[in-house]
Amino acid sequence: MIASDFDCENHAGVRAAALCAVCLKPICGDCAIEEERELFCEDLHRTFSLTHERVATFSSPFEADAVVTNLKSNGVEAQRFFFRDHLSVVLSGQRDSATVYVERGKLAAATRTLNALQLLS
Ligand SMILES: [Zn+2]
Ligand SMILES: [Zn+2]
Repeated sequence: MIASDFDCENHAGVRAAALCAVCLKPICGDCAIEEERELFCEDLHRTFSLTHERVATFSSPFEADAVVTNLKSNGVEAQRFFFRDHLSVVLSGQRDSATVYVERGKLAAATRTLNALQLLS
C-alpha cells in the first residue's frame, strides 16, 4: 500500500503523502503531524504513539483481531486500527492491513506471547 494511491482523508482530490503510523489514515503533507520521524493524522494519535508501541502491521483485519484476542487472554491489553476504516481506502477498493498497539513497556510480553502462538511472521 503506497500512500499516494489514496486521497487525503481530509482533502478530497489531494493525494496523500503518508499513512498515519497509528491508524493508517491517508493524509496529505498539510495534515501530517511529525513525531520521532513518524507521521500522524491528528494530535491524538501523535500522543498515543508516545504511550503505546506498535506490535506489528498485519496483512488482514482478521489476523489483527486474532492477535488482539490472544493478547487479551494472556493479560496484555491491545488495540487495533483498520486500514478499511478510512473512506478514501474503501473508495480505492483496498481494505486489508491493520496495526496492533500495546502500552509502552508491554511490547516484550506481547512479542513473547505471539511468538509462542506463532502469530508473528
Ligand atoms: Zn491516525
Ligand atoms: Zn490533508
